Amino acid sequence: MEKKEQLYEGKAKKVFATEDPQLLIVSYKDDATAFNGLKKGTISGKGVINNRMSNYLMSLLEKDGVPTHFVEELSERETLVKKVSIVPLEVIVRNIAAGSFAKRYGLEEGRAFAQPSVEFSYKNDALGDPLMADSHVFALGLASQEELAIIKTYALKVNAFLKSFWDERGVTLVDFKLEFGRLADGTIVLADEISPDTCRLWDKATGEKLDKDRFRRDLGGVEEAYEEIMRRLKA
Ligand code: ADP
Ligand code: UDP
Repeated sequence: MEKKEQLYEGKAKKVFATEDPQLLIVSYKDDATAFNGLKKGTISGKGVINNRMSNYLMSLLEKDGVPTHFVEELSERETLVKKVSIVPLEVIVRNIAAGSFAKRYGLEEGRAFAQPSVEFSYKNDALGDPLMADSHVFALGLASQEELAIIKTYALKVNAFLKSFWDERGVTLVDFKLEFGRLADGTIVLADEISPDTCRLWDKATGEKLDKDRFRRDLGGVEEAYEEIMRRLKA
């Protein structure tokens, strides 16, 4: 499948049309941003790692009963995916308090929840991705009640799968962000990516952060953390 015109350049990926109107090619970059684009940088080799990790995890999830956009890995940075119309929600699942949750509720990071939480942010850079109640999703017509229920079910299924996947590899899955989209026939599928850019992953033994927080918080060893988590993926 050949790349045709570039449709979009985002913060971490470029999206290209193909000769098939139902398929797109995504190309993963090494560019990294944080704090709604305020902090910019490069994480050398990140695009290759995120592409491979996302494809590997999505193919496992597909077998586990979560439909995804993944079609075929074309090269180390490029993947053929089903074109979706993105539901403009950041679907965030949490197992342990961290990041904006810890800040909002005045907690230290690291407190484990009795059960996972699912929350939604409106995917809108200009507004800074505000947190959203379910009723606001319906009020804005972003998704139907049926669609949101499916999205929550899939998000929790992804969490259950990834939690045990990473646990077996000595990694604690703290939280992550998913995006879903609609195929031409309206079917909801998991889209975008699952990578150290979009997950918090802590070494189970040491608590060391093996994700984008090393970049966000200037902790150093950013490339090494991405390489380490990639080694664990296949361990
Ligand atoms: P951002 O737009 O947040 O800067 P990226 O750099 O990752 O993010 O750009 C990728 C864009 O492609 C995102 O807007 C994402 O919602 C969108 N996208 C991901 N998967 C698909 C897909 N299968 N079909 C259409 N758009 C997709
Ligand atoms: N996340 C993401 N993209 C975003 C916001 C969050 O991938 O635009 C991920 C983030 O990596 C973390 C989880 O979602 O794994 C929860 O993030 P949080 O709400 O705590 O926000 P943050 O602290 O990253 O601002």
